[in-house]
Amino acid sequence: MITDECINCDVCEPECPNDAIYMGEAFYEIDPHKCTECVGHFDEPQCVQICPVACIPLNPEHVESRETLMQKYQRLTAIKVTTAAAASSGV
Ligand code: SF4
Ligand code: SF4
Repeated sequence: MITDECINCDVCEPECPNDAIYMGEAFYEIDPHKCTECVGHFDEPQCVQICPVACIPLNPEHVESRETLMQKYQRLTAIKVTTAAAASSGV
């Protein structure tokens, strides 16, 4: 999650491999349904690594095991592949 200490510096959004970060009403937010804590892509959460003000703690309301995060990664990847295939076939 991103706290209200966010300074809207824009650097985390393009780093997210899952497109989970978006501009909210006042500052950036993370869609917990898309965030895998970077499991499946990187060893460390990329947004946490790059944030200059360290305002991205784990969300206590969305504690997930590595297995759950990996399953989410696989589900998101399957959706991406299906969407890309549909786009390339013109469906
Ligand atoms: S931890 Fe990774 S997947 Fe989650 S929002 Fe940050 S960059 Fe995106
Ligand atoms: S990197 Fe940190 S301060 Fe910058 S937009 Fe993202 S959450 Fe906000």
